[in-house]
Amino acid sequence: MQLYSTNNPDNIVDLKEAVLKSLPKDKGLFMPTHIPKLSSEFFDRIEDYSFADIAYEVATKLIGSYISSDDMRGIIDRAINFPAPVKMHDDTIGTLELFHGPSLAFKDFGARFMAELISYFIKGEEKNITILVATSGDTGGAVAAGFYNTPGIEVIILYPKGKVSDLQEKQLTTLGKNITALEIDGTFDDCQAIVKQAFLDPELTKKYNLSSANSINIARLIPQSFYYFEAFKQVKKYGKKVVFSVPSGNFGNLTAGLLAKRMGLPIDHFIAATNANKIVPDYLETGIYEPKPSVATISNAMDVGAPSNFTRLLALYDNDYNALKTDVSGFHLNDEDDKQVMRDIYNKYKYIADPHGAIGYAAIKNFQKSNPDYLGIYLETAHPAKFLNVMNDVLSVPTVVPERLQAVADKEKVAHLLSSEFEATKNWLLKR
Ligand SMILES: *Cc1c(COP(=O)(O)O)cnc(C)c1O
Repeated sequence: MQLYSTNNPDNIVDLKEAVLKSLPKDKGLFMPTHIPKLSSEFFDRIEDYSFADIAYEVATKLIGSYISSDDMRGIIDRAINFPAPVKMHDDTIGTLELFHGPSLAFKDFGARFMAELISYFIKGEEKNITILVATSGDTGGAVAAGFYNTPGIEVIILYPKGKVSDLQEKQLTTLGKNITALEIDGTFDDCQAIVKQAFLDPELTKKYNLSSANSINIARLIPQSFYYFEAFKQVKKYGKKVVFSVPSGNFGNLTAGLLAKRMGLPIDHFIAATNANKIVPDYLETGIYEPKPSVATISNAMDVGAPSNFTRLLALYDNDYNALKTDVSGFHLNDEDDKQVMRDIYNKYKYIADPHGAIGYAAIKNFQKSNPDYLGIYLETAHPAKFLNVMNDVLSVPTVVPERLQAVADKEKVAHLLSSEFEATKNWLLKR
């Protein structure tokens, strides 16, 4: 597998370099030079494949012989070891539950696969790797769980003070060992900017062998395509055209779905569903891309004002706005409507959807008004118990907290509080 930089098609690297470096020096993003298609026989017989088998087929097709089939099988079997079930509400709409992993969010897929790939690539090397990662909520927990206790890898997580839920904060501040949390007195965009700047800082890159686990890393993106195939397998029997609705922030999840489509997955349409941070829905409507400071919402994992995967989204369509618009529609919802939709879903189906998934649901309902023949699947991107304050405020029924989440809630938080200036994080990193 070879990858190019979206800022310079002649800047070509192999997968190891793309995964370990995260970002090209020219500040573009790595994208595959070639996106192969899976055979029609694979889709004809997809029901015969387990989720791990599907992931193996997709990964092998994309990555090629670069990783031996035995090694790849091991990587997949360790990383993709929990299910991604589609729960149908009725014959027209269902949800793809992506929260059955260790941190209860879809980011577990990316984080676990990435931890496996990095371990594989650094086997036998002497210098430790330091993963720097900014989180708007769920990335931190997934990355912390995915890399916890992995030899040769240290993880430093930056999160915005007061802008992640209590349980999310606990997930990234209570593990200890090779996991360190920096509480930044600023926004998620500040955290992301600090991480980006750190990679370009000569003093830091001299001291540390830095890598990133944000969705800008291609190792996060690849495994997120697997569950679109797995979902298709489960709804194929309906014989309908399928639309996926993807609650989005940095747009890694949606980009992975579009990558699956490019690999031949027969999905007709996608919806980019956001909260009030509607940069991409606005772009789809007007053709003008205008990043803005993020605003805080009850779907905090999507509070992103400058989506880091936007360039990739466009690159998949050769920067052709009209081509992108053919496959992707935009949708956005404010907090008050989001709360009402959460109540509607519960009243109608007795299903408890989290504030992110509920926006995806509303997007499907809106799409089906003019496209009633489509089967709609919205991605349930995290378990509702990760947002207990919101859930208990909105629904009169209690949200049950899974045991593995309750276990971290009882532990003590350890984090280093720093200002949002890049220098604060830089000095902290240089001093330790
Ligand atoms: C990260 C996250 C999102 C946004 O995903 P992107 O790939 O950044 O668009 C949506 N919902 C939840 C619960 C998340 O954790």
